[in-house]
Amino acid sequence: MSATLVSNDGWFPASWRTRPVRQMPPYADEFVVRSVEARLSGAAPVVSSEDCGRLRDRMAGLAGGSGFLLQGGDCAESFDDPVAEQVAGITGLFDAMAEVLSPAIGGPLIEVARIAGQFAKPRSASTEEHDGVVLPAYRGDIVNGITFDATARRADPGRMIRAHMQSVGTAASLAAMRDAASPIYTSHEALLLPYEEALTRRDPSGRWWATSGHMLWLGDRTRQVDGAHVEHLRGIENVVGVKCGPDLGGDELVRLVDRLDPRNRPGKLVMIGRFGARQIADALPPLLRALQREGRSVVWTIDPMHGNTSISGKRKVRRLPDILAEIDAFFAITRAECIHGAGIHLEMSALDVTECIGGRGPASIDELEKNWLTACDPRLNARQAVDLAAHVAELLA
Ligand code: PEP
Ligand code: MN
Repeated sequence: MSATLVSNDGWFPASWRTRPVRQMPPYADEFVVRSVEARLSGAAPVVSSEDCGRLRDRMAGLAGGSGFLLQGGDCAESFDDPVAEQVAGITGLFDAMAEVLSPAIGGPLIEVARIAGQFAKPRSASTEEHDGVVLPAYRGDIVNGITFDATARRADPGRMIRAHMQSVGTAASLAAMRDAASPIYTSHEALLLPYEEALTRRDPSGRWWATSGHMLWLGDRTRQVDGAHVEHLRGIENVVGVKCGPDLGGDELVRLVDRLDPRNRPGKLVMIGRFGARQIADALPPLLRALQREGRSVVWTIDPMHGNTSISGKRKVRRLPDILAEIDAFFAITRAECIHGAGIHLEMSALDVTECIGGRGPASIDELEKNWLTACDPRLNARQAVDLAAHVAELLA
């Protein structure tokens, strides 16, 4: 790496490699990984750095206390997704949710989908067992196949090329659905760092941008302050989300935020709480206060999905009443602390899936099988998502 490519306090696109890294796929052949990285380094950006900059400017308004962020989409995209239908579906769902939210939010609505790059999944266990057979866990289509057989589950670096191609097509289709005044931006978890590094590009002024998506977020499993994922994300100019789970303490969050954005730029960081309905009352206030004490200008949002997940047999179970309870608590707590509750982060589908229990969805665990389509976590169906948006609108009005 030549010295001219080093910037930002020793950061460069490959500097994450000097840090301990979690959740990396066990690729068998490093040589193949290197050749894929080389190809991706010369490949087209998925999004432009100019648009990433526009999103950051708009996000600064949220940090200033007005407007709302609606972020949502699949837990995991799939290579089997019919892209045109997927994009039309998510755009229609954002339209329907925006219609109920907009009158209530008193400011601009920023729309960010989990799309065009949401292919890599962190896993709690690195293996999965069925009927006595143990295989590597599914880590998202960018890494391996979901089918439970040894060939599909092998980590294949070539999948990064396919994920990139699909993302380019998806982002282009999404951009074509809206006019340039009101885009839906793209986002994904910045998990697979070889992919992210290859798509990190320098603008003419010498600043580095992730061109894999407009907004990238740091997962709850990879937010170690000295770890590789934090190292990578601290060097890019994009809006960066930070998933904040119940184990995160105030001091640790301050260190994390110092590392990710030492310059305290408004709109640069979006905190995404994901505590669970039963834990938010204890977990959130110390985090809000710690950042406020430090004079930190961050955006606070809530992901009411990931902290409200239980397991029944092999199925993940999420219930709408828990999801709504965490949302209610988030807006009550932020209001009490005089902090702008600036948005929601959802796993949702435009399809009539039966993945979350409650409301205009399945009434019980038995009904989950009817139309369970997700490649990973359960999503709200379109009616549940629109009803949730109406509920949020009532809270904000
Ligand atoms: C996700 O958003 O799909 C996810 C894995 O979230 P978290 O890191 O909050 O568990
Ligand atoms: Mn998920």
